[in-house]
Amino acid sequence: MQAPEATVSGQQTGLTHDHAHCQDEAVRIAERLCLERGVRLTPIRRKLLELIWENHQAIKAYDLLEKFRPFDHAIKPATIYRTLDFLLEQGLIHRVESLNAFIGCSHSGQPHEQLLLLCERCHEVEERPGRAIMAAVALELEQAGFTPYRKAIEIHGLCARCVTDPTSLV
Ligand SMILES: [Zn+2]
Ligand SMILES: [Zn+2]
Ligand SMILES: [Zn+2]
Repeated sequence: MQAPEATVSGQQTGLTHDHAHCQDEAVRIAERLCLERGVRLTPIRRKLLELIWENHQAIKAYDLLEKFRPFDHAIKPATIYRTLDFLLEQGLIHRVESLNAFIGCSHSGQPHEQLLLLCERCHEVEERPGRAIMAAVALELEQAGFTPYRKAIEIHGLCARCVTDPTSLV
């Protein structure tokens, strides 16, 4: 059985790919971007990014705090929030507004908007650039004279894998 080649481009999710590659690649890109920008990827920032990239599911700040405890039992919620803010500012992660949670960005280093497809069965999130949709939204905003600060579209449903799984039809 051959696993499809995994990249950090976000087009592959699920258990069928080499996820260690996604995680390594995300950290490697983060290291490069931080170096280029002259900001520090401290051990805490790096660890938190790794934890967010443990899978393709969105994770809440509280769950990240729990996951962090084995590495630093004295870690404070404020530290987690500050670190999340740093990762958000650097575009290494995204906030999933409708779940109040976070995911690793699959397109770090390139300016982009997000179309997030949220599977309600396996809880994986696929990030797509959604360029045609975003262009249509930009036109609508222009007509409204509205200046957006943030623009992300989140769609809930079943991913391609789950929709073909008969046990998902409830
Ligand atoms: Zn992966
Ligand atoms: Zn992204
Ligand atoms: Zn799914």
